[in-house]
Amino acid sequence: MRAPRRRRGLEKVARRHFQRLQKELRLEGQEGLPFKAGPAHRVDIVVVPARTGYIHPLKPAEITRALDFFGPLAVYGLRSVEMRPTSGGSARSQPIARLRVPGRVVLYEQLISPWNVRGLTQATIQRLRRAGASIEEGLDSARIGWTPEALKDFVLFDGLMHEIGHHLIQQHTGKRTARVMRTADHERRAAAFADACRTAWTDAHSLP
Ligand SMILES: [Zn+2]
Repeated sequence: MRAPRRRRGLEKVARRHFQRLQKELRLEGQEGLPFKAGPAHRVDIVVVPARTGYIHPLKPAEITRALDFFGPLAVYGLRSVEMRPTSGGSARSQPIARLRVPGRVVLYEQLISPWNVRGLTQATIQRLRRAGASIEEGLDSARIGWTPEALKDFVLFDGLMHEIGHHLIQQHTGKRTARVMRTADHERRAAAFADACRTAWTDAHSLP
């Protein structure tokens, strides 16, 4: 067990991280989100094994570590993170993660690298490159290679934290049980939140 003082120190650091991230969601000074951490809140992590040929890139302990880093405010109202198989579909339409209201984020199994994908837009290719994928573009398909670390980070930020961004926007709108329409504005805010999470995490974990 952690000593209380150490715990308070961790909460202070987490709150600082979160206040910076809140700017990206444009939820500063708004009601609907708590500004103090409540009592320790547990997020359930559920793992349904991946099918043959697929993996769950993140381990439960890695998810817990990231949620601890971003702090209780970032997971306010979040009940579970669930790793699940996809229900068929082509590689192109393969989702990374989905928010299921209220408060559940599902992270889908991913094909083992490399992925051969058709019909990617240039915007998607750029996004994957930024996330650390190596991409060879062919005539009508692309080969996307991931190192295990890059794929973990991709699922962590472009999947989990992106969906947590949507979750926080929804918490704020007060429509906790209804699916809020995802406007282009919400997408931009969730993407900016995920990018800011990635930067905060990378800054804190890179060697000086
Ligand atoms: Zn989104």
